[in-house]
Amino acid sequence: MDLAGVEKDIERVIVTEDELQAKIIELAARVDKDYEGRDLLLIGVLKGAVMAMADLSRALQRHVEMDWMAVSSYGSGTKSSGVVRILKDLDRDITGRNVLIVEDIVDSGLTLSWLKANLESRGVGSVEILSILRKPDAAKVEVSVKYVGFEIPPDFVVGYGLDFDEKYRNLPFIAVLAKHMYS
Ligand code: IMP
Ligand code: MG
Repeated sequence: MDLAGVEKDIERVIVTEDELQAKIIELAARVDKDYEGRDLLLIGVLKGAVMAMADLSRALQRHVEMDWMAVSSYGSGTKSSGVVRILKDLDRDITGRNVLIVEDIVDSGLTLSWLKANLESRGVGSVEILSILRKPDAAKVEVSVKYVGFEIPPDFVVGYGLDFDEKYRNLPFIAVLAKHMYS
């Protein structure tokens, strides 16, 4: 869906489709270089990372495997609770694998630090994180995100996989949701 369909619901676009696609190419080139000669398993965090996975994997100039996890971190509303539950686990064993977690956004960082520790406990070869967006609060939690697309303000954003009440994931850009939509 394009801008015209959501103009009344959003405050402003903060990352355009072109900026996103250019960033994906740039991140993919770094990943290609860093994992040269090593196997690579991309683990996407459902559902937000679907767009990032689809674009990143196609921009990589190498073989990759993909697997998916679904976790829930939000009790309700727009704040992370820190309590993480696995809704869907990986299909395959990851012992010894080089894992790159693909995420849409790091907000408090609670979800990712939990997820990283969880994967590390399974005897992986390595685990790194790629996130399209990072909010300033992420600095408060000890989670190192090796590949970050864009640092954004602490506003609630939608698009490119990110939802509000399961909608807006299919926008090709990222926008700040208008306050009147949730207050
Ligand atoms: P964290 O545990 O606070 O880092 O939150 C992680 C998850 O919360 C992300 O994977 C998103 O699903 C969701 N989230 C955080 N900020 C936003 C936002 O601005 N828009 C939509 N979802 C968000
Ligand atoms: Mg998510």
